[in-house]
Amino acid sequence: MEETPVTPCETSSRYSYDVIVVGGGMAGCAAALAAARSGSNVLLVEQNAFLGGAATAGMVGQFVGWQTRAGRKVVGGVAEDIVTRLRADGGCGELGTFVMSTGHEMNRIEYDAQILKVSLEQMLIEAGVSILFKSFVMAARCDGDRIGAVSVWTAGRPIEASASIFIDASGDMALVTAAGGSFLGLGDDEALQPGTMMFEMAPVDLAEMDAMTRSDRDRVIEAGLRSGALPRAALHYSRVPGADAAWFNISRVSVDPDDPFSVSRGEIEGRRQAVEISRFLKQNMPGCSKARLSALAPQLGIRDTRRVLGDHVITRDEISAGVGYEDTVACGAYPIDVHKPTGTDLTFIEFGEDHHYSIPYRALVPAGFRNVLTAGRGVSATHEAFAALRVMPTAMAMGHAAGAGAALAATSAQGEVRAVSIPELQARLRSENAFLGV
Ligand SMILES: Cc1cc2nc3c(=O)[nH]c(=O)nc-3n(C[C@H](O)[C@H](O)[C@H](O)COP(=O)(O)OP(=O)(O)OC[C@H]3O[C@@H](n4cnc5c(N)ncnc54)[C@H](O)[C@@H]3O)c2cc1C
Repeated sequence: MEETPVTPCETSSRYSYDVIVVGGGMAGCAAALAAARSGSNVLLVEQNAFLGGAATAGMVGQFVGWQTRAGRKVVGGVAEDIVTRLRADGGCGELGTFVMSTGHEMNRIEYDAQILKVSLEQMLIEAGVSILFKSFVMAARCDGDRIGAVSVWTAGRPIEASASIFIDASGDMALVTAAGGSFLGLGDDEALQPGTMMFEMAPVDLAEMDAMTRSDRDRVIEAGLRSGALPRAALHYSRVPGADAAWFNISRVSVDPDDPFSVSRGEIEGRRQAVEISRFLKQNMPGCSKARLSALAPQLGIRDTRRVLGDHVITRDEISAGVGYEDTVACGAYPIDVHKPTGTDLTFIEFGEDHHYSIPYRALVPAGFRNVLTAGRGVSATHEAFAALRVMPTAMAMGHAAGAGAALAATSAQGEVRAVSIPELQARLRSENAFLGV
């Protein structure tokens, strides 16, 4: 039998852009919007058939960490534009609070993931972003320390797309991995946080569920842990605005991101746990007696895979001290929240009432590349610092900064991300309502 030749990538000047964003999660969408609004010709490449990443494919269901506990807003800008649009489209309500499984009060915006998909793509299209769905970035063509082009398996055929600046917002850092970049390791007592298969139950009596006291909750958790039905000491759920449905964040699945079979087994295990937990909830959780498992998230929600080694590595001490930087481009206030792969609890480190922390531009610049930025899950931060930075409002704030930075690099810094004028970038972000601290 004759060997089938590998299909060559189609190259064309049609596929040439100022900025290519890899990954259409919340960080990538914010990055693409910001870059396009700054006048760049932007391509966003997403392997799924819709935008949102963990927000939609993982069905996380709530944006948490917009403000300090004292109520000071620390994330605005493009992130706020997205929820404003989502609200106008009927996909979310106002900012509210809830009590976490740890007993801490947290601010959040619950959203409808189906509307979010539509709001995001409409916003990107209106800003002029070209979107490639069902398209997987599989390789990078490098010229020394610059990425020249990416090979993308699109719906139908492989193409090569080139750009002046690339933003890796793929969560797993697919582009930086393909280009041979460097990553941060884990300490001896650290492990990747587990993933979670979110699942929906409906119809639920939300009033009955929300009225549960702390001791009711503890009783259900204790029974679940004793029977083995609950993998962690939590009954965490978010509600779909306007529906009698709740999405539960309870399952716990560890995968090795470097082993594709482990990743596949994780999806299977997540669904298995979801079925088992839903049976337990139907029997034991107030408000769930008439409910059934009505939906599974399209895919396992992944909290933690690769963090790039950047020009600056954000540490837990910096976050705890609220260190500001000359090149601060985003802020956050969410506590350090480390889910453990073993055991049933988590490490939760709360800050002061009005505490916020900062993210420097250098933490978005991966070492070893002149024309690449990252945003979202791949931020250059230690394991514990990342456990605070990982929530979606902060991911969008980083995306906003990376997108605006990429546009500046492409136009006024000769394609050099380190030559971007920081005062100019900060002025741009502030003019777009981003919060950069005092
Ligand atoms: C179970 C769970 C619960 C969470 N709870 C909350 C919460 O309550 N509130 C909150 O704010 N945050 C929460 N988080 C954290 C938050 O959801 C994520 O950290 C955040 O959404 C990450 O956004 P991102 O854009 O960086 O990455 P992702 O959402 O992972 O997006 C990356 C995108 O890149 C795409 N992609 C990957 N590789 C490629 C490739 N090679 N080619 C093309 N596309 C590619 C993916 O399909 C995906 O769409 C939770 C996370 C999980 C997993």
